[in-house]
Amino acid sequence: MTPLARLVGPRWLIGALVVALAVVACRTVPETGRRALSLLPESQLRAMGADAFQQIKQQEELSDDPEARRRVEQVGTRIARVTESATGVPAEQWEFATFAGEQKNAFALPGGRVGFFEGILEVAETDDELATVMGHEVAHVAARHGSERMSQALMVSLGGIGLSVALRDKPAQTQQLFLAAYGLGAQVGYMLPNSRQHELEADQIGLLYMARAGYDPRASVDFWEGMAASSEGGQPPTFLSTHPNHGQRIDRLQEYMPRAMEEYRRSRASRGSEDAVARR
Ligand SMILES: [Zn+2]
Repeated sequence: MTPLARLVGPRWLIGALVVALAVVACRTVPETGRRALSLLPESQLRAMGADAFQQIKQQEELSDDPEARRRVEQVGTRIARVTESATGVPAEQWEFATFAGEQKNAFALPGGRVGFFEGILEVAETDDELATVMGHEVAHVAARHGSERMSQALMVSLGGIGLSVALRDKPAQTQQLFLAAYGLGAQVGYMLPNSRQHELEADQIGLLYMARAGYDPRASVDFWEGMAASSEGGQPPTFLSTHPNHGQRIDRLQEYMPRAMEEYRRSRASRGSEDAVARR
């Protein structure tokens, strides 16, 4: 039995039956208020996230740069603390891993698992820039974007069969969908819909999260400019390949900037360093 097939054992059937009874399940995306389809039980997604993270940690080499690991852990924990009610995951349950390798990529899984590659830390030189990526990834978790994409894909690509049937009879496909929905599927032969919408939404929500944690939201513009510059003349980084174009991204960030700056000033004031804002 593959590790993938192990995921969808009998303990999922109860959850799957509950889902089968729900004709349409929706939830509200934090901060934006958008209604989003969500057919999969959160508990099941978290279990799949934990399992996938375990596999990735076995496959990928962990970074042996203690400073890189410390930065990811520290920025991640600060953002996890201010987003507990949105993500439903207590800060101490989050796990942050830093992987070796040049790829400019990062990912987050349900249940609070985040992976950064050393390559993206080269672009995110400051902690404020790192917080841009972290805020974006935590926003994906809070907005349950993976769950929405997976729900849509399950309805469409499994030919209209019931979700409970899909989980029971097609565990490999279900797992593939999970990985694709969270941006990790290498073998998926089709694109999951709505990624652009999700990316812009994660940028905007992430901007508020980084600011709330006391990181300067203006650094997000520097970071995305750095990412665009790093992809000039070569392959676009993985992190950008399914992502909105640069100009559109910056425009949308600017829309949320006044609100983010308010949050940032409030956070800095409560941390006793309002003067740091004034100095910049
Ligand atoms: Zn993203």
